[in-house]
Amino acid sequence: MKLEAITLREIQMPLVHFFETSFGRVYSRRILLLTAHCDSVDGWSECVAGEDPFYSSEWIETAWPVIQHYLAPAVLGRTLTSARESVHWMAKVRGHQMAKAAVENALWDAEAQQKQQPLWKLLGGSRREIQCGVSIGIQDSVEQLLQKIETELASGYRRIKVKVKPGWDINVLERIRSRWSEILLSCDANSAYTMDDVEHLRKFDQFNLLMIEQPLWNDDVYYHARLQRELRTAICLDESIRHVRDAAAAIETGACRIINIKVGRVGGFSEAKKIHDLCLANNIPVWCGGMLEVSASKRYWKEDIVEPEVEVSPQGTIAIGDIPGTGYRIREDLIEELTVRKETFRVAR
Ligand code: MG
Repeated sequence: MKLEAITLREIQMPLVHFFETSFGRVYSRRILLLTAHCDSVDGWSECVAGEDPFYSSEWIETAWPVIQHYLAPAVLGRTLTSARESVHWMAKVRGHQMAKAAVENALWDAEAQQKQQPLWKLLGGSRREIQCGVSIGIQDSVEQLLQKIETELASGYRRIKVKVKPGWDINVLERIRSRWSEILLSCDANSAYTMDDVEHLRKFDQFNLLMIEQPLWNDDVYYHARLQRELRTAICLDESIRHVRDAAAAIETGACRIINIKVGRVGGFSEAKKIHDLCLANNIPVWCGGMLEVSASKRYWKEDIVEPEVEVSPQGTIAIGDIPGTGYRIREDLIEELTVRKETFRVAR
């Protein structure tokens, strides 16, 4: 498979409702899309870098030049036997996992299309449907949050995760649990606490949570290990796991009992699979978090750029099809309408 050109573009997608975490609120989303033009097929990916360097130090305005000046030149013109090989060519660039994932994942889509295989099969997957949960952001009032949870449960979701921060935590979890004592409930702090809050975090144990996600610093493993020893509730690490070595360190030190694998955060499917395999060998459950890109279309978007739209069944599952590649048709006409900038990079050598 020869990579002839890469097109990078920015689109602006209006959100159905604002989404708030401990970082702040967003009303629409600026998204980078990448197309890998290989021989006769186009592979597509989304770069999950945010509009601001809050979730991670990467953001749209770092991803664009890193892809343009370093990652694209490293892979353009090369004949690759597998998308996996692109990792090697991009390794010279330190960090910038989300930018790297955008390049690598588009190549996976292209490879799957060329091999006439669904991407899940090429990656070694076996499930035909995915059980999915939802993440509900911080709301204006607890009543509003309870209303949202009710809506999500009614539409089939079986796992509810709520965002928490100091001042929006114990009081909120209490209200949720008094209404639904049995649902699978988790919370995500996105690093909103410190080791001064250990006593406070211990109070979370009473709510029988599936997990508390990333309570401490985004780049920390050590203090999470200390905190996990103090809590009955399982800690799940998200931001701290940037690659498989972080996962190995977290498992070895007991810093978490669950790991959230975000393909974009760890640099692409190759690294994500390594983390998956390591966790499997160590009996550490994993799940895939999205950065708004993995959920039912209608939860976030007025109109999605893929067809068919992503739908969640009444049982809270997303079915996986047999169409080669990602399994979704890209609505290029709509994407063109939403595009605010676009550039194509070609082979220079
Ligand atoms: Mg998280």
